Amino acid sequence: MKVMKFGGTSVGKPERMAEISRLITKEDEPKIVVLSALSGTTNALTEISDSLAKGDRQNAKNRIDALEDHYQAFIKELVKSDVFYQKAKDVLAEHFEFLNIILKISYSEALNKDILAQGELLSTKMFSIYLQEENIPHVWLAALDFMSIDVFGEPQVQNIKVKLANLLEAHQGDTLFITQGYICRNAKGEVDNLKRGGSDYSASLIAAAVHASVCEIWTDINGMHNNDPRIVKNTKPIQHLSFDEAAELAYFGAKILHPASIWPAQHFNFPVRLLNTMEPDAAGTLIEGHSDSEGVKAIAAKDSITAIKIKSSRMLLAYGFLRKIFEVFEKYQTSIDMITTSEVAVSLTIDNDTFLKEIIKELEMFGTIETDRNQSIVSIVGYHISKTQNLLAKVFDSLTEIPVRMVSFGGSQHNISILISQEDKEKTLQLLNKGLFE
Ligand code: ADP
Ligand code: ASP
Ligand code: MG
Repeated sequence: MKVMKFGGTSVGKPERMAEISRLITKEDEPKIVVLSALSGTTNALTEISDSLAKGDRQNAKNRIDALEDHYQAFIKELVKSDVFYQKAKDVLAEHFEFLNIILKISYSEALNKDILAQGELLSTKMFSIYLQEENIPHVWLAALDFMSIDVFGEPQVQNIKVKLANLLEAHQGDTLFITQGYICRNAKGEVDNLKRGGSDYSASLIAAAVHASVCEIWTDINGMHNNDPRIVKNTKPIQHLSFDEAAELAYFGAKILHPASIWPAQHFNFPVRLLNTMEPDAAGTLIEGHSDSEGVKAIAAKDSITAIKIKSSRMLLAYGFLRKIFEVFEKYQTSIDMITTSEVAVSLTIDNDTFLKEIIKELEMFGTIETDRNQSIVSIVGYHISKTQNLLAKVFDSLTEIPVRMVSFGGSQHNISILISQEDKEKTLQLLNKGLFE
C-alpha cells in the first residue's frame, strides 16, 4: 500500500485533477490518495469564519457567494456529461447550503472547525465524481470516520490504525481509496483539523497506520529546496534528506512540509518522497533514515516568533530556577523553540503567543521581563553541521549587517538557529545563501 497526497495547487484546476487521475493509476500498487482543499479555499473559509466571529454577516455572505461561483465554474470544466455535472451540482448544493445556514447560527469555535472542513470535503467529492465519469474504480473514505486527535490535539495513532484497518477490510478487493487531508475529530467527537498545511500530516499518519511502502507528497515544486524559493533566487532542489534534517527544516519553517509530518515516518520507518505534480518525472526529494552526506543542506525561516528575556541577577544561579521558568510555559501549554542563558538572564522564544500576557505576569515574579515580537528564527540545517569547519565563521561573516538577537548551536548536531527581527528575514536568507551556497 502506498499513500499519495496532493496539495492545494495540485487539485486547484480541473486539468490538474485529470493529471492526478493519471498519476494514481500509473502502477498497480494499492493506494490511499489524500487530497487538500483547492488552493485558496481554506484561506477563503478562514475569512468567512473570521467575518462571522466579528458579526460581519454581509462580508461572510459575499465571500460564500464568491467561493460558490468559483466552484460552479470549476465543475463545468471538470466533467463532460450531464449526469456527472448534476452529481457535482448536488455536492456543491449540499456544502454551500450548509455555509448559508451557518450565517444564521451563532458563532462558536466548533462551528469554525466545521466551516474549515468544507474545503477537503468538496475537493475529494468532486474528484470522486471525476473518477466515476472516467470509470476508475475507487472508494471515497470519510477521514472523519477514522482520523482523530486527543484532548491535547495529538493524533491517536493506534485508534486511527484500528479504524482505518476496519474500513479497508470492509472494501476488500478495492485498491484505490480517496480521502481528505487536514480534517479529523477531536476528543469531544467534534470536527477539528490538524492545523494549516495539515494534509501532509494526515498523509504521514495514514501511511503509519497502514504500514505504507512510501508516503508521497505531491506539490508544485521539485522537492525541498536549499532555501525558501519565494524569497531567494536560484535555490536548488535537494535529492536526499534524512528524517532528522527534514524534520528540522519542516519545524523551522520550510512551508513545503507540515512541521509534524516527519515524525510518523521516522517512528514507523517508511520513506517520504516530495514530488512535483507539474513535473512528475523530476527526482524530487527522498527522505529516509540516514543522511547521504555531511555539511549544510538547507536554510529555512519561521516567522511570528516572540522572544522573552528574563533578567534576574538574584536567582539565576540558584538551583531549580530554570525549572520554575519552564513550569510557567508548561502550565500554559506553550512550547519553547530556542533558549540561551547567561549569568544574569535567560532568553527564550515561543511561536504561540495565545497566553503571552498570563506567562509574562507569572514570570515577573522571577525578575524583569522584556519581550520582542515579530522575530524570525533562521535555521541552517544539515547532517553533523556542528562539525563542519568554519561554518560559524561563514555564518557570521555573511551576517555582518544583520543584528542577531540569539544564537543556538550544539542543541542538535544538525542545526544552527539564529533569531533576528522579522523585517531582516529576507535579507538574512539571501545573505546566508550567498555565503553558504554560492
Ligand atoms: P501544497 O498546497 O501542495 O501543500 P505548499 O504551498 O504547502 O503546497 O508547499 C509548497 C510551497 O512551499 C512551494 O510552492 C514553495 O513556494 C514553498 N516553500 C517554502 N520553502 C520551501 C523549500 N525550502 N523548498 C521547497 N518549497 C518551499
Ligand atoms: N487545506 C488546508 C490548508 O490550506 C490543509 C492543507 O492544505 O494541507 O491549510
Ligand atoms: Mg502544504
